[in-house]
Amino acid sequence: MARIFCIANQKGGVGKTTTTVNLAAGLAKLGQRVLMIDLDPQGNATMGSGVDKRQLEVTVYDVLLESASVAEARVKPERLAEGGFAYDVLGANRELAGAEVEMVSLDRREKRLRTALAAVGAEYDFILIDCPPSLSLLTLNGLCAAHGVIVPMQCEYFALEGLTDLVNTIKQVHANLNKNLQIIGLLRVMFDPRITLQQQVSDQLKAHFGEKVFDTVIPRNVRLAEAPSYGLPGVVFDPPAKGSQAFVAFAEEMIRKMPPALPASAAAPEPPSAPEVHAVAAEVESTGPAIQAAGPAEAKQE
Ligand code: ADP
Ligand code: MG
Repeated sequence: MARIFCIANQKGGVGKTTTTVNLAAGLAKLGQRVLMIDLDPQGNATMGSGVDKRQLEVTVYDVLLESASVAEARVKPERLAEGGFAYDVLGANRELAGAEVEMVSLDRREKRLRTALAAVGAEYDFILIDCPPSLSLLTLNGLCAAHGVIVPMQCEYFALEGLTDLVNTIKQVHANLNKNLQIIGLLRVMFDPRITLQQQVSDQLKAHFGEKVFDTVIPRNVRLAEAPSYGLPGVVFDPPAKGSQAFVAFAEEMIRKMPPALPASAAAPEPPSAPEVHAVAAEVESTGPAIQAAGPAEAKQE
């Protein structure tokens, strides 16, 4: 049964899409069966996986509105298969923005993705969901369908600003809609070790969140930023690049840290509770100002 993870952070431009497509490609390279779902109407993860969003006739929009199944809507990009990075894509385009409004009046509106994924869960080892930069009904569909959340974040001043809202949303989803949901971890991305402030924030994240911070750090690397214009994840576009290697290392870390089996998402018995969610929430609430306070003094020095 697939492990289903949302890549979420309601800030835009923090590296969600880059993380999703490169983790998908990295896992595929390591022999895992992967489905990547684009839940952002911008369709960047779709384009970044070599699928032209404008040419798609059936997308995740149709899946949410139940006019198509996942099996009917997914595509298998040929360009990924060439390099041995084949993963399936459930794509999105601008049409998806309408789903937000159209779903409001429907029943089970938060659980539509979860229900749809139950039919394909056995075909994959990992399902990765690229969330939009908001805590919208689309993100809620992702969170309801998932076992866990991966939160990419830059080690900057105000690193935790906004994380409080995300963690509170996760707490609420956990309490009311999806007892399986956990915070899997915080992923440090676009990291530049030469910037003292980033090093400090990184150290503080590690000190406060411990195990919940992934060991792998994704460096700032221009090849990762160039890759989308070629319609490929960096891992596929330039495998030896530092950023690509880091994402493959992250894929290895994910495989290493995953328990052998997680409860089936759609029909799971409710586990006792996920104390980690509350622990992370408490940490975010208590740590936020401390990490933010490290910022200004350092910023002035540089
Ligand atoms: P989000 O999906 O959170 O909005 P993106 O993944 O689209 O964020 O990243 C925002 C921008 O930063 C993009 O232009 C992307 O190419 C670039 N980027 C992301 N990660 C890196 C990195 N590690 N090094 C350099 N550029 C990056
Ligand atoms: Mg994005």
